[in-house]
Amino acid sequence: MENFQFSPFDNNPEFQAPDLCVSSGESGEDLNQETQAFAMEEDETEQSLADSMICDDSGSILVQNGFTIPDSTDEIVLFVNSGAMTSMESDSGVSFTADKFFKGGDTFQTEEFITEGGDYSFIYQSARLGDFRYCIENIPPGNYLLDLHFVEIINTYGPKGMRVFNVYMQDEKILSDFDIFSIVGSNKPLQFVGARVSIKDDGILVLRFEGVHGSPLVSGICLRKANNKSVSKVNREYFVCTNCSNDIEYPSAQKKLLRMKLVAQYEKKIKDLKDTLQRKTDECYQSWISWTAANEQLAKVRMELDNKTYRTYSLDHALEMQAEKLRDISNKYEQCKKSWTIAINNLEQKVKVMKQEHSQLSRDAHECTDSIPDLNKMVFAVQALVEQCEDLKVKYNEEQIKRRKLYNQVQEAKGNIRVFCRCRPLSKPEVIAKCSLVVDFDAAKDGELGILNSGSTKKTFKFDRVYSPKDDQVDVFADAAPVVISVLDGYNVCIFAYGQTGTGKTFTMEGTEVNRGVNYRTLEELFRIANERSETYAYNISVSVLEVYNEQIRDLLATETSKKLEIKQASEGSHHIPGIVEAKVENTNEVWKVLQAGSSARAVGSNNVNEHSSRSH
Ligand code: ADP
Ligand code: MG
Repeated sequence: MENFQFSPFDNNPEFQAPDLCVSSGESGEDLNQETQAFAMEEDETEQSLADSMICDDSGSILVQNGFTIPDSTDEIVLFVNSGAMTSMESDSGVSFTADKFFKGGDTFQTEEFITEGGDYSFIYQSARLGDFRYCIENIPPGNYLLDLHFVEIINTYGPKGMRVFNVYMQDEKILSDFDIFSIVGSNKPLQFVGARVSIKDDGILVLRFEGVHGSPLVSGICLRKANNKSVSKVNREYFVCTNCSNDIEYPSAQKKLLRMKLVAQYEKKIKDLKDTLQRKTDECYQSWISWTAANEQLAKVRMELDNKTYRTYSLDHALEMQAEKLRDISNKYEQCKKSWTIAINNLEQKVKVMKQEHSQLSRDAHECTDSIPDLNKMVFAVQALVEQCEDLKVKYNEEQIKRRKLYNQVQEAKGNIRVFCRCRPLSKPEVIAKCSLVVDFDAAKDGELGILNSGSTKKTFKFDRVYSPKDDQVDVFADAAPVVISVLDGYNVCIFAYGQTGTGKTFTMEGTEVNRGVNYRTLEELFRIANERSETYAYNISVSVLEVYNEQIRDLLATETSKKLEIKQASEGSHHIPGIVEAKVENTNEVWKVLQAGSSARAVGSNNVNEHSSRSH
């Protein structure tokens, strides 16, 4: 409570507390002040303002200085020094009681100097502050006068209305909207003097302080005895003399003039206030309109701001996504860059190598070009060679035909029908049976064969060639091979074996798989020569397989067996069998397959166990 200040108004020299001197009425408490009040007509407005705060109509007044010792202190019943911790007895006999009888509020004390503080300015250096009330008991019933002492303690000047409160006495409002500062300013006492109160038989006096703005405050409460005269109903037409207690006539004309002046002042003030109000209302209306417009604008701006915020948010989001993508792309870009760099390096290397090769090649090409003396000459030479070659081909063909003719003439000269004789060695059973050879091969080279009879006589047979048991398959085929060329030259050739069963026909013609006979070797030779001549001749080779059985010709490749076949002789002497199946073959294997198919279709093959040694080939 030490720093009881009103800081917002610190050091405000412009605001001057009105220097009021308020008085009225007839209590006679301080006639001097009353006289002053009448004298200072210029201050009537402030006076009326102060008057307006007093609700008590029993003649109480506001006095703007401190407590002075009255002529007689006997009438003072009780003086409570509000906010004071201790009681104090003055020289003049006034006893200032310590703060008592209160309910609520706080004490307040200050060392501030109190201007015009009266005889005991310390009263004003303490106060009770807050919402509080006083309840004084055991007062002898009767009529009393109540004085209240106030002061606004403040270091600096302040505005009106900073502390406004109501005071109730016995539940009756005696001060309304009471504003100390507006009357005396700060650090200057203000007394509310002479409120009449009648104490009933219960002996209780209740004072209540209620704040309108800020907290109520009081520095002292003084209860005085009222003499009978002062209690009697005051006639407002008279002053009461304090000294003699006589009523002094109050001139009504003066009073009327005062009232009229007051009314005029009030009316003027009301008019001014009305004008001000109108002006302020207009200003308010204008302000309200501009405020509404501003508000609308503000709403728009807010909406725009919201939109912008949202867009910003969206853009931020999009930006983040883009940044993420960009990071990905730049990562990929970096990777690609690396791989491309490697690839480019490789390519550069290759290009380098290729350039080297290219220059090498062009060098070679140049050398080559240089080395060809005259290309045209060469072309002509080649053309001449080609022509020569064509000529040679023609000549070669002619020679070929001649050679073939001569060859076949040689063959014919050797004999159109050639008979060879082959003797097989003794078979195992024959050796076991101690058989001996009866054939003599002494003149075999000359194609002669001697058969030894039981006697010493020898019968000789002549052949184109005789093969002894020592001659193998290759030797036998060597004599058959030349006729293959004749076949391909267009001559008819027939090779067949004849002999008794078991003499070696099958062995000679077919042979074994590891030791092929004439058939197989002849066919191989046939296809070999045909291939050799394929550039100049195209051969169609076909195979027919037939058997003569019971004087009937049977086509062993035919699917229908009922067909009757006959051997026909053509005009040039060749034989052919119309209607016989001719299977086209391309190689030895195909021939072999056809032969096997025909072999399995033989009539004798199925019921004769010894089929391979029972018939001629
Ligand atoms: P054919 O066909 O005339 O009835 P094979 O060809 O079946 O007689 O011959 C009878 C047997 O004599 C067979 O076991 C065969 O291997 C054998 N043979 C025939 N000629 C010779 C030969 N030149 N050398 C050795 N063995 C032979
Ligand atoms: Mg046989």
